Amino acid sequence: MPDTFSAPHAGHAADPLALLRTHLPDIAAAAALEDHDGAFPAGAIVSLHETGLLAAPLRLALGGLGWGSEPAGAAPLAVALRLIGRASLPLGRLYEGHVNALRLVQRHGTPSQARAAAQEARAGLLFAVWNTEVPGEPLSIDRDGRVMGRKILCSGAGQVARALVTARDAATPEAPPRMLLVPLAQGERTDLSGWTAQGMRASATGAVDLTGIEVGSGMQVGRPGDYGLQPDFSAGAWRFAAVHCGGLEAVLGAMRDHLRRTGRGADPHQAARLGQAAIASGSARLWIEAAALRAEAPDAGMEAVAFVNLARLAVERAALDVMELAQRSVGLNAFLRPNPLERICRDLATYLRQPAPDRALTEAAAHLLAAEAEPGEVWDIPVARA
Ligand SMILES: Cc1cc2nc3c(=O)[nH]c(=O)nc-3n(C[C@H](O)[C@H](O)[C@H](O)COP(=O)(O)OP(=O)(O)OC[C@H]3O[C@@H](n4cnc5c(N)ncnc54)[C@H](O)[C@@H]3O)c2cc1C
Repeated sequence: MPDTFSAPHAGHAADPLALLRTHLPDIAAAAALEDHDGAFPAGAIVSLHETGLLAAPLRLALGGLGWGSEPAGAAPLAVALRLIGRASLPLGRLYEGHVNALRLVQRHGTPSQARAAAQEARAGLLFAVWNTEVPGEPLSIDRDGRVMGRKILCSGAGQVARALVTARDAATPEAPPRMLLVPLAQGERTDLSGWTAQGMRASATGAVDLTGIEVGSGMQVGRPGDYGLQPDFSAGAWRFAAVHCGGLEAVLGAMRDHLRRTGRGADPHQAARLGQAAIASGSARLWIEAAALRAEAPDAGMEAVAFVNLARLAVERAALDVMELAQRSVGLNAFLRPNPLERICRDLATYLRQPAPDRALTEAAAHLLAAEAEPGEVWDIPVARA
């Protein structure tokens, strides 16, 4: 298979979200078929290319829509991530990584690196960010300028064409990591055998051994430490939470389908659970919409990080609640294949596991504790600006 997700009619639609909606039924149908180890949503990636979504994270000047790279792109990106997550959580994970990689290259790369990445994204290449590694085994660059080591939990392993990885200089291991944009061929250096997860089986999440790659000129993006710069690093969590929110809505949809099909929806217990799930779903969406605006405001600071931390945990809580309500309403069928709830709940429960949720909560609490404003107004200012 080529490393480019070629599409016959690549380009931008007048309304990419409307075009995306026309692809969602097919994306959702494919997700049901691709629920097995080693699977990858290649057809859905082509759909994203056809709708212009692979190029959408690029700045307007680079032929994109500014999603994730310009403040005005926050709202449409939030909708896109939610819609994609609703149709396929593995695809949502992959698209979120693609958006993040292009954002980082545009923010920290040279103009020529940004132009090259833009050209590749417009041509249908899929990007990813691979930061996770085995504790104590950092990816490093040796004195001869060669990469040593591997990354783990890499979504799209063996499939993405450009991976933005973090690596430390072996000579100065205490210095913050730098970013490398690594070109990869199909299937190269990949080991998916460790991805035995309950859900997200089609995300092709695995280990990638990058040992021996020569760090060529033009591969280094930005300066050491740029990857972890705040508020960007932590506030970017709103994007995975937006995908989670879409998954939560898919669970709510499957719950409603069941109640309609079985004629049980008017039962007061069932109606109450559906209502409770609708409240949770609506709350999650409001958190995401507000978090996207705060995180992407031009003058976002650490208050945005605190708000996004709360948003991500609010969405996590809502998702856990909606899964429980749906499973209680549907009963055993919610646990039997091929009921869509069975798969979507597995995907969502797996993807909800994101780094350091306890720290996210306690740091947000510390921000509130130290803030001078009334608790109800701590996060007001960015809203007024938005
Ligand atoms: C589907 C999927 C795809 C992924 N794809 C990618 C990818 O493409 N690229 C990438 O870089 N990563 C990827 N990841 C990895 C992801 O970014 C996180 O590293 C991973 O999900 C962390 O999950 P965890 O539950 O092990 O987190 P942890 O942070 O280990 O949290 C587990 C628990 O431990 C607590 N905890 C955390 N730190 C401490 C501490 N120091 N002391 C005490 N308690 C602590 C947490 O609060 C939580 O309760 C992916 C993950 C998933 C699920």
